[in-house]
Amino acid sequence: MNANMMQQPLLISTLLNHAERHHGEQEIVSRRVEGDMHRQTYADLAQRARRMANALAAKGVSFGDRVATLAWNGYRHMELYYAVSGSGAVLHTLNPRLHADQVVWIADHAEDQVLFFDLSFLPLVEAIAPRVKTIKTFVAMTSREHMPASSTIPDLLCYEDLIDAHSPEFTWPLFDENTASSLCYTSGTTGNPKGALYSHRSTVLHTYASALPDSLDCSSRDTILPVVPMFHVNAWGLPYVACMVGAKLVFPGPWLDGKSLHELFESEGVTMSAGVPTVWQGLLAHVEANDLKFSTMKRTVIGGSTCPPAMMDAFEDKYGVQVIHVWGMTELSPMGALGKLKGKHVGLDAVQRRALQAKQGRSLYGIDMKIVDEHGGELPRDGRASGDLMVRGPWVIANYFRGEGGDPLVDGWFPTGDVATIDADGFMQITDRSKDVIKSGGEWIGSIDLENIAMAHPAVAMAACIGVKHPKWDERPLLVAVKKPGAEVTREELLAFFDGRIAKWWTPDDVAFVDSIPLGATGKMLKNRLRETFREHRLPTA
Ligand code: AMP
Repeated sequence: MNANMMQQPLLISTLLNHAERHHGEQEIVSRRVEGDMHRQTYADLAQRARRMANALAAKGVSFGDRVATLAWNGYRHMELYYAVSGSGAVLHTLNPRLHADQVVWIADHAEDQVLFFDLSFLPLVEAIAPRVKTIKTFVAMTSREHMPASSTIPDLLCYEDLIDAHSPEFTWPLFDENTASSLCYTSGTTGNPKGALYSHRSTVLHTYASALPDSLDCSSRDTILPVVPMFHVNAWGLPYVACMVGAKLVFPGPWLDGKSLHELFESEGVTMSAGVPTVWQGLLAHVEANDLKFSTMKRTVIGGSTCPPAMMDAFEDKYGVQVIHVWGMTELSPMGALGKLKGKHVGLDAVQRRALQAKQGRSLYGIDMKIVDEHGGELPRDGRASGDLMVRGPWVIANYFRGEGGDPLVDGWFPTGDVATIDADGFMQITDRSKDVIKSGGEWIGSIDLENIAMAHPAVAMAACIGVKHPKWDERPLLVAVKKPGAEVTREELLAFFDGRIAKWWTPDDVAFVDSIPLGATGKMLKNRLRETFREHRLPTA
């Protein structure tokens, strides 16, 4: 029997309509590429997005066309999020931290038609413009007075000219909610990047779930500053959440150093932020060195790689900022699990609480997860058994863009490539990436635990643990560490630091001090690069 309810497609444009009608006066503040601060309201955003939708139509962008961006977090990028997807075209957020060759490869693979870019990326765009096969229209995201005096890009358009030249009268079209809305490529640390093509439906459902109290707990009383870039899995969905709940938004533009971020947190009364651990390292170092505080920040979302417990201690114990540890993937839009405690955990002491929060967390409604052994058999949820993490849900990809790599699913589940435990309360803990696992004498050693311990040493700024060849044990852990500026620690001292903190046989065999650890375009440590560097490393014989 069919129900009697309305069929209203879940479209991204409905988020913008809601924000305009119910939170029209709410502010969006941006530190611009041009160097100044810019303020507008949700009413302005909606009006300018409609102008841009008219401009896109006038430039021949039609349903399903890919429109690419190379841009920082800012109001013009936000306008494109809504103008492009709302029109039925597909927003493709290119990652400017990739090498020009990769950007060309991805833009060609996506068959992008138009490229919008911030002026900071002019040299990159000039380098790729003669090489890309399908992009015909290039738009600089700035006003007439800031347009480059000359450029090798033919017929370069100006964003504000397009806005001025088009009417704000536009009715967002209605179409099937399963229509593609945006496209993000995986970081591609191995092999070619692959595209995750989201739908309006998957995006709206992901938005509902991520705003919930046990998720990011967002409301119209929040001021949200997404540090996570809008070119990295749609800034973890925050541009959509902000419209759904009517939160004030603050965009940092290209200035992601500790000093600039802290100033913006304080001057705009930011209550919530989100980003990868490497960004927070810079912020904490600045705050500590200058004896500063956070006067309005209530919580910060940390994910993309493991949040070291030492970082949680600093935020929560020293500065009173709650850390929400999240786990996700490009293929999951990206939210999969969050480290929010349950009511029954209220009475836990600080050490027990921190141990739970250090886990990647419980799945939010919509994401189903399980761990399996090498034969696909489900493993117990006892917090000890560790296996391949599989997920499914309405915002998990069923296929990569253009069917790249074949069918990724196994019996309807998406294999994440992460190795994890799940406890009886549903808290999942990543112990490794399957390709990063260190196998010693047939047993797995989780590199993340070792890195967390090393990072808790006061002289260590960053640490990565990799397996290197060992004649007897097959592989043994090598700790690659970066010292904090001015700090000293010896190999012996650092290895002694593991005593009592981990099983003896898990302790790394050696330490290599380096000036820096290579990071990928989304801030993750490139362990394959480290494994290459240390392939011939000879471990000391005991
Ligand atoms: P990406 O698609 O680039 O966002 O990368 C997804 C991968 O990042 C996951 O499969 C994990 O290996 C890793 N990752 C994301 N969040 C976390 C986290 N909180 N802790 C540990 N690893 C994480």
